[in-house]
Amino acid sequence: MDVYLEDRIKIGISACMYGCKFRYNAKGWHQLEAIGRDASSFIWFPVCPEVNAGFGVPREAIKITGESGSAVWKNAGKVMSGSGKNLTSALMKSSEACLNQLLQAEVAVFIYMEGSPSCGVYRTTLKNKRLGKPPGVFGHLLLENGFFLIPANDLTSPVKWWDWRRRMLAFLWLKKQPLHTMADLYGIWHVLKFLCQEIDEKWARALGKKFADMAHPKAEDLEAIRVDILNVLRKPSSPQKIKNRLWKHYSHYRKLTGKTIEGIKRPTELRNMTELAEELLKMELGAMSVDYLFGASPIINRKKKAKE
Ligand code: SF4
Repeated sequence: MDVYLEDRIKIGISACMYGCKFRYNAKGWHQLEAIGRDASSFIWFPVCPEVNAGFGVPREAIKITGESGSAVWKNAGKVMSGSGKNLTSALMKSSEACLNQLLQAEVAVFIYMEGSPSCGVYRTTLKNKRLGKPPGVFGHLLLENGFFLIPANDLTSPVKWWDWRRRMLAFLWLKKQPLHTMADLYGIWHVLKFLCQEIDEKWARALGKKFADMAHPKAEDLEAIRVDILNVLRKPSSPQKIKNRLWKHYSHYRKLTGKTIEGIKRPTELRNMTELAEELLKMELGAMSVDYLFGASPIINRKKKAKE
């Protein structure tokens, strides 16, 4: 089965994380610097719902009244400026416009600023603070439209970024795969099962068993399985699981190909996160050079070399 995604991936991003000084206090961060050269592998779509709504820079910080940004869409919450101006309708319209820009450009991934009452999505990682009442007003639309959502803070950790990137590629690949028959499903599962097992072993084993009872599945059953797998791919793994799996796949690779890759360590050996990320990239390159399916990072985002 073809595991290549040959087109450059399109990624939406909160503009203030892309270096635009668009925050209410005129701050912004070059968050992509953290991923170095990898940033040039993608096409970026920065959007800012608040600037797009005409709120200007600098401006008063906005607040959500009600449970969250989702409540705003249900008429159960408002967006207010610090001095009490009602900005609800302007931010809703602008959020829809930003969403439409992304959808029209066929963007399915978004890197969001955590804690923002507009772009925030999940509970913030800032300890003990539930900033911005997540999801934000725009974040709610991203969730509703099934975007693959990456917190901008995780770009600063090389292993977390590696984890997000490999799951993002698997997510986008799975979305595009034809899925009409059990043979299609088995083909997809062959590619993604090791990654899914790493993320949620119990769920993956149960799903594998479910296949045995599905001789002639209906189209909606197959699509429901696709959605289940897509949702699992949204979940982060952990450095320990990543180390264990790396060693397992590397051991299998050595056995199968008779080749070694310098610098890949056992799970018990000490290394920092930057070193671990380097090992993972070496394993990806080594696997790609001999057409070995590296189950922890199965999808390759580059042009396929023509066979000689
Ligand atoms: S609305 Fe989003 S992109 Fe704009 S400043 Fe706030 S968090 Fe950043």
